Amino acid sequence: MPGEGSVTSGIFFVGEAPGKNEDEQGRPFVGLSGKFLDKLIEKAGLSRSEIFVTGSVKCRPPQNRTPKNDELKICKKNWLSKQIEIIEPRLVVLLGKVALNQVLGEEDNLDKIHGQVRQLNSLKCLITFHPAAAMRFPKVRRKMGRDITKVREIMRNNAAKRHSSTSV
Ligand code: URA
Repeated sequence: MPGEGSVTSGIFFVGEAPGKNEDEQGRPFVGLSGKFLDKLIEKAGLSRSEIFVTGSVKCRPPQNRTPKNDELKICKKNWLSKQIEIIEPRLVVLLGKVALNQVLGEEDNLDKIHGQVRQLNSLKCLITFHPAAAMRFPKVRRKMGRDITKVREIMRNNAAKRHSSTSV
């Protein structure tokens, strides 16, 4: 499951790993949590087609276990870093703690840091929950919904900054 979506919008979502449906279809977030993610995206005034979506790892770990460190490392080197290098996203949305660890190397408590934006060199990252957690827990759902509404705002500010720096 390499990932799919727009490579020009600048918005790049990273999840954890493909589940059974994703693995069978070779497409990200096509199962229940994907449908749920689509709803959150639409509520935030975005559409799935304008977002590139992928995972921290591209193969389904056996029994849906969390990806291991060596798997994460190999997938980052061979896939994710290259995808980011080629697509040059303006905003990377980190869906859950595996993505947070994979992209930023952080292991902080999501409850504490969700909604925050981190800058790693030229990469701007918004931290939020995984949709599977939001689907199960209404409290997380509300928090994630608010986090995702920040995407458009951040993209607008990005564009305004670019515009002001080129129009001086
Ligand atoms: N990451 C996930 O967590 N799920 C997917 O379907 C794809 C990537």
